Amino acid sequence: MVIGVVLRSHAGGYLVYQNELDVDFQCAARGRLKKESVSIFTGDRVELDEINLESSTAVISARLERVNLLPRPPLANVDQIVIVQAIHQPEWSPLWCDRHLIHFQLEVPTASFVLCFNKSDLATPGDIQALRSIYEPLGYRVIITSARTGFGVQALMKLLDGKISVLAGPSGVGKSSLLNALKSDLSLKVGLMENQFGVGRHTTTASELYRLGKKTGKNLTNAVTWVADTPGFSLAELKHPTPEDVAPLFPEIARLGQACKFSDCLHIVEQDCNLLANLHQISPERYQSYQVLIGEAQAEQKQRQTTSNKVEARVKQVGGKAGRAKSIPRLNDRYRAPSRREEKQKLRNAAVQHEHTESEESE
Ligand code: GDP
Ligand code: ZN
Repeated sequence: MVIGVVLRSHAGGYLVYQNELDVDFQCAARGRLKKESVSIFTGDRVELDEINLESSTAVISARLERVNLLPRPPLANVDQIVIVQAIHQPEWSPLWCDRHLIHFQLEVPTASFVLCFNKSDLATPGDIQALRSIYEPLGYRVIITSARTGFGVQALMKLLDGKISVLAGPSGVGKSSLLNALKSDLSLKVGLMENQFGVGRHTTTASELYRLGKKTGKNLTNAVTWVADTPGFSLAELKHPTPEDVAPLFPEIARLGQACKFSDCLHIVEQDCNLLANLHQISPERYQSYQVLIGEAQAEQKQRQTTSNKVEARVKQVGGKAGRAKSIPRLNDRYRAPSRREEKQKLRNAAVQHEHTESEESE
């Protein structure tokens, strides 16, 4: 069985890398897969058939089981999410960080999470210590880099080694510079060089894998280091948790919240809330993010409630007895079904009309 990893897809085909042969194959999917609507995304591991080394073509005969799937941009088998920020220029944004941590934890809970703070050349040791002290105690990997000086780039490479990672960060923080530092030859950007298909057909809705390095080995899953690049998401695109979903995604809040005597406490206003009593144990930036996210989740919940109330106002219950009532749409007067009386009157009119016509005819 020959297995490859999908690097990118384009109209009608896939570019698939096969590790032992070290070849990128231009592939079509077997008709059966299409018929069965088996989706194939970047990052998917697939079985190859009808391999032609001369033309570097093959056919995808099956898709292997996925570990996970990041829906947007679609990327399968994500090992790791690396949230990239600059310490300065642009200034580090705790809210951006926490928002994206929450988003990706909801999307791919099985991935591991790394926070990469770039532009360390512009930072003081105090800045760096402050960042570490916020995120490391929570169990997140923190890595400090400078694409400019090369500081931390080796350590970052080691973290990425043999995995499929998503680099997420707003523009300007140095993602491209880091990728360049990781692999000086960025012509290795898949799809821009090694294949003649699909060039210029780039879409931001699909994801692409960048190949950063490879080892000779049998085990495909960790022989090659892959990185996908995303600019982060707009508010509307981010996953929206319900208010109750938020606390479990903040490990420090979840921990203190467990000892809270109110089972449904959101740890924002309640008197005697255990978290509020121990607020000094939490970093102010994190609690601020938490408050913002709770506020947004509540506003959204309210919005949903109002919408569903409006829908309810447009229906009425008919059919009396409890449990047996039916909801039917309330109709505008114009479209109201005629009452019995109106119905009778109409029939009478019609009958009179009918009599008249008949008598006219008989005359
Ligand atoms: P991207 O939008 O995240 O891909 O960011 P770029 O890689 O394009 O970098 C944005 C700007 O930040 C460029 O002017 C880079 O030269 C600069 N830059 C990137 N990394 C560093 C760094 O480590 N230190 C400093 N001082 N500047 C950096
Ligand atoms: Zn509480």
